Amino acid sequence: MRYEILCTECGRRAEEGEIRCVCGAPLTIRYDLGGGWKNDRRRSITRYSAVLPVKSLPPMHVGWTPITEVSDVLFKMEYLSAGGSFKDRGACVAAQKEKELGGREIVVDSSGNSAISFSLFAKVLGLKARVFVPAAAPQGKKDLLRFLGADVHEIKGTREEVNREAMRNEHYVGHWWNPYFIEGTKTIALEAFEQAKSIDCAIAPVGSGTLFLGLYKGFKELVELGELEQMPELIAVQASGYAFGEKGSEESKLADGIAIRDPPRKKEIIRAVRESNGSFVVVNDAEIAVALMELRDMGFIVEPTSATAYAAYKKAKPKGKTLIPLTGSGLKLLDELLAIAGSQKHRASQRKNLSPL
Ligand SMILES: [Zn+2]
Repeated sequence: MRYEILCTECGRRAEEGEIRCVCGAPLTIRYDLGGGWKNDRRRSITRYSAVLPVKSLPPMHVGWTPITEVSDVLFKMEYLSAGGSFKDRGACVAAQKEKELGGREIVVDSSGNSAISFSLFAKVLGLKARVFVPAAAPQGKKDLLRFLGADVHEIKGTREEVNREAMRNEHYVGHWWNPYFIEGTKTIALEAFEQAKSIDCAIAPVGSGTLFLGLYKGFKELVELGELEQMPELIAVQASGYAFGEKGSEESKLADGIAIRDPPRKKEIIRAVRESNGSFVVVNDAEIAVALMELRDMGFIVEPTSATAYAAYKKAKPKGKTLIPLTGSGLKLLDELLAIAGSQKHRASQRKNLSPL
């Protein structure tokens, strides 16, 4: 289907393969949805090929992740994807685009998951992957990157400093800026709508915003097509110490995947929250740890960053069917999960000792 690549600020029409507008703002892709489009019948991301900006997709299953419904919550199990997170959706589209444009190498920055997904699809497509990650990223994620044959550059400093370092290189296609990446993540909304039919609210962790903006874009396209009457309420979850405009709060150590203060798509995130009558919710490490253990008790082995969305659900108590994508696998950072489980057990026994009985 026909699409345009447009600047989110100056409205300039960009060329295929541009990652960032000449004015410095992020780009977005807009489809002409007037004629509608048909699903491919396959149960994977290829189902939505008509509204993905690539000629084909890598030969590895992505998407159509299961939903486990618990009360009114639709837990979409994104962590079961090949690379262990929802980032596979964006990376498979973005890496494929690079290949179609004649690229041989991709350069990305990441807290871990996005780099893992890019390295995985680089392998599948025969591209080289050069990845920039924080030196403090979980060891399990860094080990997996090396197993996938990526050229790993560990950078000491904030997540923003890692991004600046990566962007100095040619062939940078990182998810913070890449407009093709969000086209991949929007398929979560398209899929969840087909699987669940009715969604009143969706909650997503927000770091760079690629999941949140993907959900927004997918639901917006469904509204434009007349499939969906109105946009679900979108709740953006941020970790304490990293919320927009927040000062002085204790910085979350558990939510490493969203430890980002000033992402390039900040204005788009704020617009999406407003347009959906949604809200921002900030969660701290104590709330994340409790949510993580409750998710475990339901049978979900996810990483602490994923648990932020459930922690926010417990705080915001939205009405109706609520979609929570469980973003990343806990199997990449078992040491951290064991430490959290240990500290929660310790707290529970302390509470027991304090109780009058
Ligand atoms: Zn521009």
